[in-house]
Amino acid sequence: MTATAATAAHSHADPWRAHAARIVSIVDETPGVRTYELAFEDAATRDAYQFAAGQFNMLYLPGIGEAAISISSNPAATATLAHTVRAVGNVTDALARLVVGDQILLRGPFGSPWPIDRVADRDVVFVAGGLGLASQRAAILTLARGSSCRSVSVLHGAKKPGGLLYAADYDAWRGVGVDVRTTVDEADAGWTGRVGLVTALLADAIRDPAGTTLLCCGPDPMMIGVAEAAIARGVSPHDVHLSLERNMACAVAHCGLCQFGPLFVCRDGPVLRYDRIAELMKVRNL
Ligand SMILES: Cc1cc2nc3c(=O)[nH]c(=O)nc-3n(C[C@H](O)[C@H](O)[C@H](O)COP(=O)(O)OP(=O)(O)OC[C@H]3O[C@@H](n4cnc5c(N)ncnc54)[C@H](O)[C@@H]3O)c2cc1C
Repeated sequence: MTATAATAAHSHADPWRAHAARIVSIVDETPGVRTYELAFEDAATRDAYQFAAGQFNMLYLPGIGEAAISISSNPAATATLAHTVRAVGNVTDALARLVVGDQILLRGPFGSPWPIDRVADRDVVFVAGGLGLASQRAAILTLARGSSCRSVSVLHGAKKPGGLLYAADYDAWRGVGVDVRTTVDEADAGWTGRVGLVTALLADAIRDPAGTTLLCCGPDPMMIGVAEAAIARGVSPHDVHLSLERNMACAVAHCGLCQFGPLFVCRDGPVLRYDRIAELMKVRNL
């Protein structure tokens, strides 16, 4: 499904309505990070639900609150939906106490997708810092299934080797031609891979700057560094897309919590073209 189709599917639904879902599996990914596979209880909701890679859901625990969480499963298989979550606060800590079979509520999908329907004959370079890879996994799975793009690279950096996300998937991704490269800030005894910033991996991945689309998600300083390094190598700012994370509440551009200059990250983002936001990214605490 294209991004346009997903947006259209969503526009007919009530964005305020939360739907009941059950946890069908929980996978421990890295310390404090788990992937929850959810299935809608109502078959009609399950059948109607569509999303595009890069969009997010609001996960709702009644009496506790809601949190925006990227959908990290394959958009072509919506019988269940995966969300990879780090326990950092009210909702995510409560989620970490749930077990398989427990119910949660969910509304969505929201937000702009990664532009993977516009990458024909191009090299697609995903760059992810830490949990940022969760927002890209749906796009990686989509392109890995077969796409008209020329190549797919995944450059993933984590603080420590144990923080590399979806490590169990890398062999499968490589098996379908995805170039997966990793680096860590701090090695441990068993680590024989690269140490250093993820920006150092760009040199090998950007072979034809004019034909490269770069998709980046991670902490703001890392994204600015990656975007500027890619542009310095000749990638057009039009072809650099960042997924922003801001505190948000309504997810439908009403409450203003995620306002980012003239933009609402929940509606206009989270995926935004770098040339639209480069100046805003320099404003501290915006
Ligand atoms: C589009 C999008 C996609 C996301 N995808 C994921 C994902 O896939 N996985 C994931 O784990 N997280 C994801 N997040 C981040 C997640 O939504 C936040 O971490 C969320 O705050 C967690 O909710 P909580 O109730 O558990 O934590 P909170 O209780 O909200 O606390 C989280 C942290 O944020 C701080 N904080 C909370 N509210 C504010 C505020 N108004 N101003 C400043 N600081 C504040 C808290 O002090 C705490 O340090 C995403 C966010 C966005 C916007």
